[in-house]
Amino acid sequence: MLAALCKELPVTDPVTLTADLIRCASVTPVEGGAISLLESLLSRAGFVCTRIERNGVHNLHARYGTTGPVLGFNGHTDVVPVGEGWTHDPFGGTISDGKLWGRGACDMKSGVAAFVCAALDFVQDNPDPDLSLAILITGDEEGPGLDGTLAILDWMAAHGETLDHCIVGEPTCPERMGEMIKIGRRGSMTAYLTATGMQGHAAYPHRARNPLPPLIALLDRLAAWQMDGGTDQFDPSTLSITTVDTGNPANNVIPGQATATVNIRFNGAHSSVSITEILRAMVAGAEVEGVTIAMDIKVSGESFVTAPDAFTDLVRGAVQAETGVEPVLSTSGGTSDARFIRRIAPVLEFGVVGQSMHKADEHVAVSDIDALARVYRRLIGGYTDVLAKRLV
Ligand SMILES: [Zn+2]
Repeated sequence: MLAALCKELPVTDPVTLTADLIRCASVTPVEGGAISLLESLLSRAGFVCTRIERNGVHNLHARYGTTGPVLGFNGHTDVVPVGEGWTHDPFGGTISDGKLWGRGACDMKSGVAAFVCAALDFVQDNPDPDLSLAILITGDEEGPGLDGTLAILDWMAAHGETLDHCIVGEPTCPERMGEMIKIGRRGSMTAYLTATGMQGHAAYPHRARNPLPPLIALLDRLAAWQMDGGTDQFDPSTLSITTVDTGNPANNVIPGQATATVNIRFNGAHSSVSITEILRAMVAGAEVEGVTIAMDIKVSGESFVTAPDAFTDLVRGAVQAETGVEPVLSTSGGTSDARFIRRIAPVLEFGVVGQSMHKADEHVAVSDIDALARVYRRLIGGYTDVLAKRLV
């Protein structure tokens, strides 16, 4: 089916398109030609493409069809830096041992290529469909994320564009293609702690105010905090101490200041507000005479879950039909742009095996790319039936 896709188009299949995208060196926030490639491909197939640029970040909104319902696909073409230890060209897009190698192979140029090819195939078979497809591609998911999918959503709101459901094509399968669909994500927040005392000579500690003992005591309490035991849909919340610094190179100087960073991944039993309240109380309890502890909080996203319904069944059915594997519905892992999209539409995530993401010699099985494109094509084909059922 997909082989017949691009008779008049410059790529023939999702594997070729993934390789072409890998050859675009799009390390955040560099566009690298990746979004231009997709824009040209989608425009030639009749999609109305809008480039959305904000603060130097390139994003793309591409829509086919003028009637609802609107099924969206979201993904990113930016990749993390290459790092050390590669045995394959990170931007070569080479195939060997049945695998396609390169930065972004699994996270997530294969996902983007698979849904773009599935969408192209669908509109070629259905030039006048009874649904619309919206493809949302960002060049800023691996970076701060402020000018990526958020910029697309702002543009959509300003132009009356909506989604009824959305699929994010991030890698979701731990080991085997088809085994996991993400229906939600834990929230993520970071507390930046700064303990301030008074610097002094280590031989005369009574003349200094050492910020380290109260900061260490606070970190000890935080490390021991059992936040919860998990919920029906989520694993237990976790807290990790990620940095402790004084910047003090001297063995005989009591530092005047010390800092620490704590990252928290939380489930639906908490919110960033409720956690912040608890943290503030713990910080206040750790302060001693002459040492203050300041705390800055950065919230990356609240936890969310998309309640299983007919759309979930459609995605699950498509995965099972094309991979032969019954997927589990999970909320595990880090954050993704699904945390933004869920504000406007129910969102699920399904993609390839993510084992090598962000690692040297990142790769994806060629057969998994084809399977993913078939899953997406099948669920686009079944989508109007599902939404009709939901509206009955
Ligand atoms: Zn990703």
